[in-house]
Amino acid sequence: MDEQLVNDQLSQWDRDHFMHPSTHLAQHARGEAQGRVIRTGKGAHIEDRDGQRWLDGFAGLYCVNVGYGRTEIADAIAKQAHELAYYHAYVGHGTEASITLAQMVMQRAPDHMSKVYFGLSGSDANETNLKLIWYYNNIRGLPQKKKIISRWRGYHGSGLMTGSLTGLPLFHNKFDLPLDPILHTTAPYYFRRDDLGQSEAQFVAQCAADLEEMIAREGADTIAAFWAEPLLGTGGIVPPPKGYWEAIQPILQKHDILLVADEVVTGFGRLGTMFGSAHYALKPDFITIAKGLTSAYAPLSGSIVSDKVWKVLEQGTDENGPIGHGWTYSAHPIGAAAGVANLKLIDDLTLVENAGTIGAYLNAQMTDALGDHPNVGEVRGEGMLCAIEFVEDKDSRTFFDPARKMGAQVVAELATSHVIGRAMPGGDILGFAPPLSLTKDEADQIVAATVKAVKATF
Ligand code: PLP
Repeated sequence: MDEQLVNDQLSQWDRDHFMHPSTHLAQHARGEAQGRVIRTGKGAHIEDRDGQRWLDGFAGLYCVNVGYGRTEIADAIAKQAHELAYYHAYVGHGTEASITLAQMVMQRAPDHMSKVYFGLSGSDANETNLKLIWYYNNIRGLPQKKKIISRWRGYHGSGLMTGSLTGLPLFHNKFDLPLDPILHTTAPYYFRRDDLGQSEAQFVAQCAADLEEMIAREGADTIAAFWAEPLLGTGGIVPPPKGYWEAIQPILQKHDILLVADEVVTGFGRLGTMFGSAHYALKPDFITIAKGLTSAYAPLSGSIVSDKVWKVLEQGTDENGPIGHGWTYSAHPIGAAAGVANLKLIDDLTLVENAGTIGAYLNAQMTDALGDHPNVGEVRGEGMLCAIEFVEDKDSRTFFDPARKMGAQVVAELATSHVIGRAMPGGDILGFAPPLSLTKDEADQIVAATVKAVKATF
């Protein structure tokens, strides 16, 4: 590393020049907020520029699924960069890496899916899906069928349309979002139900009735798609209540509403299954993929379309000529090479299975250790995802005043044990989404550090 980059100037340069995403900009620029400068990583650990090591319980932003420092992927990236750093994918062009990756993705996707379009981020892949959905209904002669229903607490990106799909006020406020054709329905978040007396089955029936009512109010002929993560991620790591998908999918089918399964987090193993769609028996028309596709070794995302959609897209180009959609970096060869090496590694190391077994162990240990704590309202998770929701009073399910930032305090305490968790937005919720390669010993370390942090905070 250049000598200049490790001297004390770095923090000053950071404050003076670098505008960070999802950051309190003013506090950072004034030097009041503590960031970390990360230098290297190995397995589930990262190391900062001062040589301090951290167990990364969130795998970056739930994306470094194979863990840090995998030379197989680094070598594949280097080889691709030496041979051919770039060529575009327009007008039928491809590279060995991008074509191979498409084949590998489709081999793993549910059987009724047909093709994959590659982008760079989860946000742009969702943007692609939205455009294709509008195109699909125009080709079908249904130009009025354009509205999209997503859910409160969903997360689908932070662009204009994708930020609108996202159902978290933090991503709307002061940005004039959500934009018009996007509607939000009830979050499948049983712990936060309005009526505490409701059973899980009653709550699911209400979610279904709320959706039916919205469709009836707007008119089914105006609604194109329902957008959802198989399991709410950034909105709190909330597995759906039992029977939720069984109740929702028939409603969509009845009204000719497409299902977009946003699998940016759940794709490629995080739930202990290759896709969350298989995990919850979803039959989506689109699947959004990103993070786990390359384990974030290089940016790459994808929009997987079903046979049903593909047939209409073919008809569209037969009638109208080439599709007017594409990015310079679509199917970038370096991202594709990273994806090929990453998917191979996931198979070779049986990481999908590991996510299931170690994830179940992490959740069980966390529940044992903290389930009865008076300020722990709920410990929940699925596969290699785990969340702890804190409350001021458990019996009455009273939440803390958000201004007290209890979730952020627990995360800060956790850091004193050199374990990284994430304070999820919209509540005092501590989230974990470690690499799928996590070991039992590392799961124990996460639980021990969490117990210590909870004791120190409450
Ligand atoms: N969809 C889901 C479910 C996500 O969790 C995210 C990011 O966390 C996105 C979409 C957006 O992806 P990106 O940040 O790569 O644009």
